[in-house]
Amino acid sequence: MPHVAILGLGIMGAGMAHNLLKAGFQVTVYNRTIEKAQPLSEAGAQIAGTPREAAGGAEVVLSMVADDVASRGVWLGDDGALAAVRAGTLLIESSTLTTGWVRELAEIAREKGCTFLDAPVRGSKAQAEGGELSFLVGGDPAVLERARPILEAMGRRIDHLGPVGSGATMKLINNLMGGVQVALLAEGLVLAEQAGLNLEQVVPLLINGAPGSPIVKGKAARIVARDYTTDFALRWMHKDLTYALDEAMLHNVPLPTVAAAREIYRLAMAHGHADEDFAAVVEALRPPQ
Ligand code: NAP
Repeated sequence: MPHVAILGLGIMGAGMAHNLLKAGFQVTVYNRTIEKAQPLSEAGAQIAGTPREAAGGAEVVLSMVADDVASRGVWLGDDGALAAVRAGTLLIESSTLTTGWVRELAEIAREKGCTFLDAPVRGSKAQAEGGELSFLVGGDPAVLERARPILEAMGRRIDHLGPVGSGATMKLINNLMGGVQVALLAEGLVLAEQAGLNLEQVVPLLINGAPGSPIVKGKAARIVARDYTTDFALRWMHKDLTYALDEAMLHNVPLPTVAAAREIYRLAMAHGHADEDFAAVVEALRPPQ
């Protein structure tokens, strides 16, 4: 079994690392806030103090961090993983990132004699914990075959979208649609609240009717209950919509609905909801209590 290094033990990375351990891989973990690595240590992982140390003995290095800045830091920073990787190491970037950075990283990996996949995920906290993620992969199909046993330990579906960057592009499209749908759900529910409708009647009608996509089904009750326990932080949805708008700009594609939705997430962040679940976007729209 290959030795795998995991960089990033947030909501997603922690679940992924646990599932690799359960599948019998030798796992070394790194997290900027080292305390978060303790449960992994108890489950049998080695803890590294830097990404460089984590990558040193690994045959596979997988990153699951917040954004482009975090990814650049763990791969290329002073103690970054790329300072330690040996030629032949398989690098996997699973964070949701810009396609520009993912392609730049792939090129740096190539110069080091490493292979690279972008493999962002669908699914959230529960799917990361349950080993039920869905990987959206960009890169060489032969490299994917090498990565497959590792991805299969963390997920139940793998889709190969094309060359490096294709997984990242697909992921941004996936999330721009999810982000808009939840902002729209929030608008509908606030109107229902203010118009005096009975929400116990409204929610089943919405989620079991034409607007009831899986994400609308998942967030409606939480919005009504004001339960913003974080599965996916609002600040990262704002980040994803920003990256989607950047991508669209590159292709000269207008995304006016995404731009409007991104502003609602920005307002919710300004009102102090950045670290809550992105269902809290509704708080940008509700009148003050
Ligand atoms: P999270 O819980 O906020 O964890 C973020 C991780 O990134 C933590 O390990 C954090 O370290 C690290 N990090 C942040 N800034 C850093 C920096 N400058 N240098 C080094 N490490 C840094 O986020 P998450 O929900 O696990 O999401 C991780 C990635 O998966 C994001 O790209 C997100 O968009 C994507 N994603 C999330 C979900 C979801 O439902 N949660 C679903 C699909 C994809 P600290 O612990 O030290 O803060």
